[in-house]
Amino acid sequence: MSSATLDVAPRQSVRPTWAEISLSALRENFRAVQSHVGPRVTVCAVIKADAYGHGATPCALSLESAGAKWLGVTTTDEGMPLRSAGVRSRILLMTGFWRGEEDEVVRQNLTATVWEPWHVEMLSAAAQRLGAGPQPIHLKIDSGMGRLGVTLPELPSMCRVIQRASHIVLEGVSTHFASSEVTDAPETQLQIENFERALRIVKDAGLSPALCHMDNTGGILARPDSWRDMVRPGIALYGYTLPLRSMKASPDNRPTIRVRPALSWRTRIISIRQFAAGQPVGYGGTYKTTTPSRIAVLPVGYADGYRRALSNRGRVIIRNGYAPIVGAVSMDLTLVDVSKISGAAEGDDAMLIGSRGSLKVDAAELAELSGTVPYEILCGISKRVPRVHLP
Ligand SMILES: *Cc1c(COP(=O)(O)O)cnc(C)c1O
Repeated sequence: MSSATLDVAPRQSVRPTWAEISLSALRENFRAVQSHVGPRVTVCAVIKADAYGHGATPCALSLESAGAKWLGVTTTDEGMPLRSAGVRSRILLMTGFWRGEEDEVVRQNLTATVWEPWHVEMLSAAAQRLGAGPQPIHLKIDSGMGRLGVTLPELPSMCRVIQRASHIVLEGVSTHFASSEVTDAPETQLQIENFERALRIVKDAGLSPALCHMDNTGGILARPDSWRDMVRPGIALYGYTLPLRSMKASPDNRPTIRVRPALSWRTRIISIRQFAAGQPVGYGGTYKTTTPSRIAVLPVGYADGYRRALSNRGRVIIRNGYAPIVGAVSMDLTLVDVSKISGAAEGDDAMLIGSRGSLKVDAAELAELSGTVPYEILCGISKRVPRVHLP
């Protein structure tokens, strides 16, 4: 038999390490956020960074079917493939655009966040050149985070730039909180006050933006008084809410949003060895068996985004128990101790993130163990890991 057709057939990875994304969980989480803020507040679903590792295009289409009218991405590069895939919702470029991208922003009907006069001037010129209508923009205010945005002293002159631009309409004004999850942070209160002040300056300049927005997930949960016209949840859509903190000792019992993780990360045991006590395992022999042990090998490592900081710390779910990571997580392989899991065998499913019955490992646990935030765990699952989207 000729192998010619096999040679050209696209090859799907058969390495048994993959991430499963439940699009129904994503949609339910979106609806939970929408019902939390009520029908008068628009929910801009943040799907930047490949939807926090969940796959931007399938997530965008699914969120759209659940009623999302706005999607938030970081760059033009992230917005364009969504249009090619048929996404029709408004797309907010949360980190503006780079010089040279202005024509594409206009052509693809992307909505730029702006904070520099050149943003406004170049976009207006592009719209004119392309014979397009007025371009909606969202003006970003630096209300105290000290990152992107127009500061209050610069605002009056920025408003004049916007008014002078022939092909620009100010649709939105936004800001971003530095400590949104702290319910009573005085910095956040100050940011809200600065934002209100900015809105008055914008209004006094004769501009009337329809969409004012401040909140990410933390703000949505901690500061209902700051919701205004639109909110921008990201992490909540993927099933994580931040633990709200209070400056005071008292626990915070504000209503939360019931969401569940949309992503589970799976692999399979590829080898099991029985060792006597005293056997060092993995690079550097950082773990040595203390009793006769069964050690299983998983085909996942830090090149997949399974962090090295989990060495000798993390755990995975195999059958009906937790198997602790032993030794150093290496680039492509991780070792777990399955001595206590009866019947564990080659080919068994291992859950790196996921739940089974009452067992659960989530991105928050991996983040805690590796000294980071769930965001970095989710975004860090590398391209090598195929994403499988379940309806
Ligand atoms: C990432 C981002 C969000 C979403 O933040 P979450 O904490 O994931 O809800 C909202 N707004 C801006 C400007 C962002 O960059």
